[in-house]
Amino acid sequence: MSSLRRADRRRDVVLMAEIDEETRYVPHHRKKIAFIFSAMRHFAAELEASGWTVDYVKLRSRGNTGSFRGEVARALKRHRAESLLLTAPGEWRLTEEIAAWPQALGVDVEVLADDRFLCSRADFADWAEGRKRLRLEDFYRMMRRKTGLLMDKDGPVGGRWNFDRDNRKPLPRRLDIPPPKTFKPDRMTAEVLDLVERAFPDNFGALAPFRLAVTRRQAVRAFDDFIENRLALFGDYQDAMAGHSPYLFHSLASMHINAGLLDPLAVCKKVERAYRRGRVPLNAAEGFIRQVIGWREFVAGIYWHEMPAYRESNFFAHHRPLPEFYWTGETEMACLAAAIGQTRDAAYAHHIQRLMVTGNFAMLAGVDPASVHEWYLAVYLDAYEWVELPNTLGMSQYADGGTLATKPYAASGRYIDKMSDYCGECRFDVKKRSGADACPFNALYWDFLARNRSKLKDNRRMALVYGTWDRMAEAEQRAIRRTARAIRKAPP
Ligand code: FAD
Ligand code: SF4
Repeated sequence: MSSLRRADRRRDVVLMAEIDEETRYVPHHRKKIAFIFSAMRHFAAELEASGWTVDYVKLRSRGNTGSFRGEVARALKRHRAESLLLTAPGEWRLTEEIAAWPQALGVDVEVLADDRFLCSRADFADWAEGRKRLRLEDFYRMMRRKTGLLMDKDGPVGGRWNFDRDNRKPLPRRLDIPPPKTFKPDRMTAEVLDLVERAFPDNFGALAPFRLAVTRRQAVRAFDDFIENRLALFGDYQDAMAGHSPYLFHSLASMHINAGLLDPLAVCKKVERAYRRGRVPLNAAEGFIRQVIGWREFVAGIYWHEMPAYRESNFFAHHRPLPEFYWTGETEMACLAAAIGQTRDAAYAHHIQRLMVTGNFAMLAGVDPASVHEWYLAVYLDAYEWVELPNTLGMSQYADGGTLATKPYAASGRYIDKMSDYCGECRFDVKKRSGADACPFNALYWDFLARNRSKLKDNRRMALVYGTWDRMAEAEQRAIRRTARAIRKAPP
């Protein structure tokens, strides 16, 4: 991390603080709070063991003011410090807060770039300059060239940049899916779990069982286990969903990369090595690397490029409240019950569950994007605003009107049925478009398209679906819209 690299362990003090404000600005999942506190405490111990002086303020330490500014002010006094050295935070909110410190605290503040990204904010701005559209594919190819990952001289390994087409297989009925590596909580984690249990009794989400990697060493072991046991089929089943297997062949690496326990370039190099040694196919290695050096860096770039106005975007002028079942999992829709249920239990859902189940439903139902954003920011282990906001507002809700995605990721029940085993267990009929037992995604999907025609009609990628809608009999269109109105009023 840039500030540690610049600081001097013989002279400087590292301040780490558990800040009440940060635990409450959205109602975070209890596992997320425990994961972050435990990782912080373990990291502080590692720093101390390697000769740093660490001033660690626990949530319940006496005098903890509960605010960032308050804790920095107290520490400045304690150590009679004259200057502060920081790594840039990952949220606009904190960037603004820190900008006020020199004046408010009367101290020199130097903010260093967060070097845990492969494309700096300045480099992204240079790349974006003068482009009519910011397209992931162009950015990704630039990043492949820049990092040299999966490159053969000037071209992509295998002659193609993108193996997305091979990566949309539904899950076969019988397939062995090795579970992710787990870790027994040590004493430090047990203490944190106890603290979270007492301090956040009413927050969303199950605290137990807690088996997450909380140190760099554990995170590396968990990732190596992914390469060994799940990466080979990561590509093939990247978009599949299954009621019995929340993790499928995914890496679960985002929580560790985002918290700084894994390095994004190092994990990609490991994946490339596995491919070059013939241990995993190209579609798996490329699929993974694209997510990390493509999507992850791209959404970070968009966030800093578009904030703060981005947060307010609401292209469809959606204003409905988030259905209560997002916090309880109690819904008759089997796909949503599964995705939200595992979110409650594990603070994890993979990309397609977030995009095509919970996100898709919220957009089709006309939910206010700001409340959808708050939910995603609260409930996932890997959620920080720089990555969550563009994924939610841009990719999943199309609230930015197309800055991030070329068309809304809207889909009917047919997509969910093709990619999952949810519909077989559901009380709704995925083949029906209207009526009390019709799959709610179907009626909502067509109603969403009809309602927003003026906003979407010029998008060439939508022409086909509008053609299908226009060919439906008027009576059917009316029945669909009636069904959708009822669902939007009282989501089942
Ligand atoms: P894998 O499927 O194993 O993918 C490998 C890695 O690629 C991930 O670990 C992650 O680092 C990266 N990655 C993949 N897709 C994306 C993406 N779209 N954006 C950024 N990185 C990506 N990701 C977060 O890290 N934090 C969030 O708060 C977050 N919120 C999201 C909200 C919505 C509505 C949607 C649709 C997606 C969101 N994502 C978020 C992206 C993605 O869903 C998660 O990164 C992924 O599910 C994490 O699980 P995994 O580590 O098993 O990923
Ligand atoms: Fe979801 Fe519709 Fe399938 Fe039920 S029938 S699981 S609501 S897609």
